[in-house]
Amino acid sequence: KQRNPGDPEFLEAVEEVIKSLEIVEKVHPELLDDDVLQRIVEPERQIIFRVPWVDDQGKTQVNRGYRVEFNSAIGPYKGGLRFHPSVNISIIKFLGFEQVFKNSLTTLPMGGGKGGSDFDPKGKSDAEVMRFCQSFMTELYRHIGPDTDVPAGDIGVGAREIGYLFGQYKRLKNEFSGVLTGKGLSYGGSLVRTQATGYGLCYFTQALLKDNGTSFEGKTVDISGSGNVAIYACEKAQQFGAKVVTMSDSNGFVYDPDGIDLAAVKEIKEVRRGRIKEYVEDHPNATYTANERPWGIKCDIALPCATQNELNLDNAKALVDNGVMAVCEGANMPCTPDAIAYLKDHNIFYSPGKASNAGGVACSGLEMAQNAQHLSWPAEEVDQRLQGIMNSIFETCRDTAKEFGVEKDYQVGANIAGFLKVADAMKAQGTV
Ligand code: NDP
Repeated sequence: KQRNPGDPEFLEAVEEVIKSLEIVEKVHPELLDDDVLQRIVEPERQIIFRVPWVDDQGKTQVNRGYRVEFNSAIGPYKGGLRFHPSVNISIIKFLGFEQVFKNSLTTLPMGGGKGGSDFDPKGKSDAEVMRFCQSFMTELYRHIGPDTDVPAGDIGVGAREIGYLFGQYKRLKNEFSGVLTGKGLSYGGSLVRTQATGYGLCYFTQALLKDNGTSFEGKTVDISGSGNVAIYACEKAQQFGAKVVTMSDSNGFVYDPDGIDLAAVKEIKEVRRGRIKEYVEDHPNATYTANERPWGIKCDIALPCATQNELNLDNAKALVDNGVMAVCEGANMPCTPDAIAYLKDHNIFYSPGKASNAGGVACSGLEMAQNAQHLSWPAEEVDQRLQGIMNSIFETCRDTAKEFGVEKDYQVGANIAGFLKVADAMKAQGTV
């Protein structure tokens, strides 16, 4: 706390993990090591840089760029880039810290990192976005590489941004390599990467539900967000026989009692780059509520897929009052700590993002493997591997929770399992 006084999100993420590790101290104290604990909460390297670019009016704009290379004990730094006006060092550090444990859970050899900028792609022309991305990469390129640090997308960084970033890296280094993931299919991307986080969330949730004697079939689902994760979570939940009734953005949410028409959402968000409220224009039974989140709508399963701290204690109470059975995180840290405590106290199944949204980075790991082999695997193969990884993450969370005497506490299971692997690698490599 003394070392990070202005970083509330980072402290929230660290405290959550430390709390889970108190259980390790009680049950298997020999597995905890003070030296590792001290080192694991300190990023290996933090890079902060100026990103100057020229807008369409010829005016110079300046943003701030970040890359936090958090932990490389089990592989090269790996984690997304976020472009959003709310980005600051606290948010990037919390995301980087979470990424360390998430990547460990995937079973793939990836360390943890995260980066981004306070640049807002919304309302910018393609040319402005390209100039920004080129300037951002003109500094970042010297810190990353296919065996050093491999960034990907996150909020505000999709296929368009990854393309511009990759083009500039290639130009600066004269090297065509797998330095970024989430690339387009024509230049080294992996099939299923676009869908991977949302699909992976549903594979994890389905495994959890099955293990508890039920499934998505016939369930009502609230989803927040209408970006990459939300759209593909909606698609897979619908394929599993659920009815998704809400989606949202930072301005409000839509509720469609008939079930969300996903083709319409894709048209609005992926083609027109519009706002979710446009959905009600041609869906007369649907309603739009401005400045609110969807958690007051009755559902069996809630999948928060927008951003951090978007589901608070009041929202958790509303969900429980309406009979929710499971809350599985697609976003990173969407539930506040008091909301999580309330859900767990009421025996609601809860899974933390670092477990249930790991499908995106897992598929990125598969993209790295394909790039290294100079091969491209068919969609079925990637999807099957993704399902296998999500099932194994669920089993790891479940079995670890049981081993440490907190059966069905998937949050504690995820934190302990993610931590133990990284800690073991850190110990083996000495005090570095
Ligand atoms: P997108 O940019 O594609 O979509 C983000 C969605 O969340 C948009 O609907 C956006 O609305 C909404 N949103 C963003 N900020 C806020 C806010 N402050 N309040 C309310 N709504 C907000 O991002 P992704 O779908 O990729 O990411 C969503 C979440 O999933 C993030 O937490 C991300 O870290 C996490 N994640 C993403 C992965 C991926 O592979 N993409 C992998 C693992 C985790 P608006 O358009 O109004 O901003």
